[in-house]
Amino acid sequence: MTDLSLPETPEAPAVAEDGVWLRCIECGHEHAPFDDIVYTCEECDSLLEARYDRYPTFDEFAGRGVWRYSAALPFEEGVTLPEGDTPLHRVPRLEDDVGVRTLRVKHEGMNPTGSFKDRGMTVGVRVAAELGVGRLACASTGNTSAALAAYGARADLETLVLLPAGKVAAGKVAQASLHGARILEVDGNFDACLDVVQNLADRGEAYLLNSLNPFRLEGQKTIGLEILEEFRDDYGRFPDRIVLPVGNAGNTAALYKCFRELVAAGELEPDEVPKLTGVQAEGAAPMVEAIESGAEDTERWAEVETIATAIRIGNPVNAPKALPGIRETGGTAVAVSDDEITDAQRALAHEGVGVEPASAASVAGLRKLRSEGVVGDDEDVVCLTTGHLLKDPDAAAAAGNDPEPVANSTEAVLEHLGIAATAER
Ligand SMILES: *Cc1c(COP(=O)(O)O)cnc(C)c1O
Ligand SMILES: [Zn+2]
Repeated sequence: MTDLSLPETPEAPAVAEDGVWLRCIECGHEHAPFDDIVYTCEECDSLLEARYDRYPTFDEFAGRGVWRYSAALPFEEGVTLPEGDTPLHRVPRLEDDVGVRTLRVKHEGMNPTGSFKDRGMTVGVRVAAELGVGRLACASTGNTSAALAAYGARADLETLVLLPAGKVAAGKVAQASLHGARILEVDGNFDACLDVVQNLADRGEAYLLNSLNPFRLEGQKTIGLEILEEFRDDYGRFPDRIVLPVGNAGNTAALYKCFRELVAAGELEPDEVPKLTGVQAEGAAPMVEAIESGAEDTERWAEVETIATAIRIGNPVNAPKALPGIRETGGTAVAVSDDEITDAQRALAHEGVGVEPASAASVAGLRKLRSEGVVGDDEDVVCLTTGHLLKDPDAAAAAGNDPEPVANSTEAVLEHLGIAATAER
């Protein structure tokens, strides 16, 4: 049975260490967090989540960035670059155009390696250090590998990344490469890469830092904490809805856990919980399919394709955590076309917010849901943009203006611009 509500007074089981333990979301079996390396339930192989003998309250948070929220995390500090504290942009023209009461854009592309993955890695790599592992590894559509390479370098640990050959944006490969990761290009998609890395981890050859790792999601909870705090400071209320791109559904699961912990702490009323609204690309939409059919888990899509390579995923590993998050908060999931994604990427860019294609899916999805009337004109909405424009320079150049060749003279430039040549000044 899925247990998604949290107990009011959490009591640490015998396996807990410093008030932290891992609990199976399916059968409730409890595991020691830092004793053995464990990713999934030893009893039933389902997903694990971190549990604490305490819940965080807003007044405990102090400092900046992810570690401001250490009261909600397994450690006081981590391997940090530092990360978090990203802008919550105002986008008045886009807000008007979409037609909602409030639209803010939480730009996670402003993290140190240019994506929200840094929030998970600062915690995950700290756990790896605690466990004393020798080698870190991940499968990646690109951003996880860039973040792991940087945080692995910071912690002075060997890092191995598996990427789908030819399907990773140029900026991301460059990052993993320069930060010193060993990069294996696999002739297969992301899901195939993850299968291999999971097998390596099961054999004890590497410590897995994909979002199957429950500690990564703990770091990613801080996206929700930052949004709630900043929105409340600006408007005296919490947003009605958070719209986000969905790949492995780690963020969706992390945000839901963030809200459940705040509800259990009495910091958030159940009717104040933002509606989690997931957006996928039409060519990779197993979560949308599951939400529409009412299924408890997703069906694996063998073939996936989209310009939004960061969410080109057919088997979202966190679906069993994320589907209840979408349902219990009253949210929904929607698929958008690559053209809709590119249009939204341009619209964000014209507000000065530069994002990679996957990130723009959130805004494209909001537009679609607003035009269908699923999202009301009176709603306060936050869209998450997950990665920076420079991650995928090819997509940006293709979506933007073409450079115009011109001869090397002022006259030629003036003529090209259609400005009449006047007397020299
Ligand atoms: C990883 C990633 C996603 C997908 O996030 P999930 O938590 O796996 O759903 C979306 N956008 C970008 C830019 C990413 O790097
Ligand atoms: Zn179990």
